[in-house]
Amino acid sequence: MKLASSGAASVRLPCVVIQQQEIDVITADQIKPKEKGKSDFFSWQLYRWAKKRPEAMKIWSSTWNCVSGIDAEKTVLYIGFERDGDWIHARQLRNLCLHGSNLDCWAYGPCHDTRNWVDITDQFWERYFEIGVCAIHGDYAHNWSNGIDTRTCRYCGKTETKQIKPVTTEVWVAV
Ligand SMILES: [Zn+2]
Repeated sequence: MKLASSGAASVRLPCVVIQQQEIDVITADQIKPKEKGKSDFFSWQLYRWAKKRPEAMKIWSSTWNCVSGIDAEKTVLYIGFERDGDWIHARQLRNLCLHGSNLDCWAYGPCHDTRNWVDITDQFWERYFEIGVCAIHGDYAHNWSNGIDTRTCRYCGKTETKQIKPVTTEVWVAV
């Protein structure tokens, strides 16, 4: 896969070590879930994307989101490729990875603040091979192994302890 670079900065290709073998290209086969149509450690949607768009595997931490627009405090991940200067053809990663979502790709330009999007391709793919879907969905994708008072995610290792909290409810009472 040849990735476009913008400006003078050189772009390092995603590089991960799998089974002692260094590779510089993420291919669909490397991120294929075991069962067809079902996400496990790997996302089925991301696998579909990799198969359909092998040239669009760069990842950005974007300062633009479809709810509040340009917002540097609320960055979201996008996957895609660069073209024509500040234009990035991409898809919001979490949205892409929703079960049953399509594989559409959109063009983002200067009005989406693409100049300030940060290329985190290497970090993301390393993390994805380390913790799987938790790298995409954060707290929404854990695969819990339940203990009595604690539970641990089989993918990312996050552990939580069970706590009992009293709940206060507001009710209307006749006078
Ligand atoms: Zn997890």
